[in-house]
Amino acid sequence: LPRDSFRFNPLPTRVLFGAGTRSALAEEVAAAGITRALVLTTPGQKGMGEEIAQGLGDLAVGVFGGAAMHTPTDVTQVALDALTAAGVDGVVSVGGGSTIGLGKALAARTGVAQVVLPTTYAGSEMTPILGETEDGLKTTRSGPEIQPEVVIYDIELTHSLPAGMSVTSGINAIAHAVEALYAPNGNPVMDALALEGIRALVGALPRIAADPAGGAGREAALYGAWLCGTCLGNVGMALHHKLCHTLGGSFGLPHAETHTVILPHALAYNAPAVPEVMAALRPILGDDPAAGLHALARDLGAPVSLRALDLPEDAIDRATELSMQARYPNPRPLEAEAIRATLARAWAGDAPI
Ligand code: NAD
Repeated sequence: LPRDSFRFNPLPTRVLFGAGTRSALAEEVAAAGITRALVLTTPGQKGMGEEIAQGLGDLAVGVFGGAAMHTPTDVTQVALDALTAAGVDGVVSVGGGSTIGLGKALAARTGVAQVVLPTTYAGSEMTPILGETEDGLKTTRSGPEIQPEVVIYDIELTHSLPAGMSVTSGINAIAHAVEALYAPNGNPVMDALALEGIRALVGALPRIAADPAGGAGREAALYGAWLCGTCLGNVGMALHHKLCHTLGGSFGLPHAETHTVILPHALAYNAPAVPEVMAALRPILGDDPAAGLHALARDLGAPVSLRALDLPEDAIDRATELSMQARYPNPRPLEAEAIRATLARAWAGDAPI
């Protein structure tokens, strides 16, 4: 990929990767200077959190199991009260983007250290970005205090991620890498990570879908998710992420599924402006990379239409308007009619063109 000139200031998260790496958690928590840790989870993963807390022994003061999608500030306030009451100086986030978002929200307010054990492929653990919702409005901010200090990728914690969620979460990760390839502030290191991350996930997802609890593909998928999350943390995103942010924030659509539906169409929209990116993707995704992504989702039983996510058809016009409003770099200029047509195809589940 042509990168004539660039600046690169890599983010400093410490990473442990491998099956069973959570056995090093207590050591890592202590090394991060944490003496009283609060373990964070969603209600569905509280059991997993209890086990993690048990392994931490005296270093853990308890489990807060109330993390929710899109980091609502009222949940953050409840967790903040628990954190203050127990004299907590660090959080251990066990889960996907929702749980990691809560940890980031607490770190942004108090400066507590974060140790993260990711259990999906969404990639939030590798970014200094926090999205929060208050009164139905989603805002995003970024800062060094939001970036987690330590990330422990223990493959064993991903075996319980259901097949459907594994596929959509994996394609969510691929989306970060695809947009990194055409980011104007990208660099050759991120390009290499992006292509390697996409390759790993495209190979792993069919194996996981065939036997989610069997373990095959789990290591490659989490490896790919780490690389793709690193891209998300280090370079700027474009039309695809903007469309998904709009559909999630203003229409309540689910995060990973929305990424899965939109990605082939957003890539098809940008394709004419990025021939070198399409050429780099062909060995991984086939002659038509956008069609390859669409087929990957469809063949693995993931949703391929916004209609299937219950978006009303008349939302297309408003979503087009909203995605035209913010200023962000995109390789192909934002053309309202073409974006509306792109969203209409995504709504109907048509092939990307
Ligand atoms: P999630 O964290 O909401 O998880 C979805 C569901 O799956 C939850 O109920 C969770 O408990 C469950 N789950 C997760 N891992 C599991 C496992 N291994 N076994 C069994 N159940 C499991 O979903 P997500 O897609 O990871 O995160 C989405 C959220 O993260 C969105 O709010 C999105 O905006 C945010 N996000 C933020 C960033 C960032 O950089 N700030 C990046 C990516 C995503």
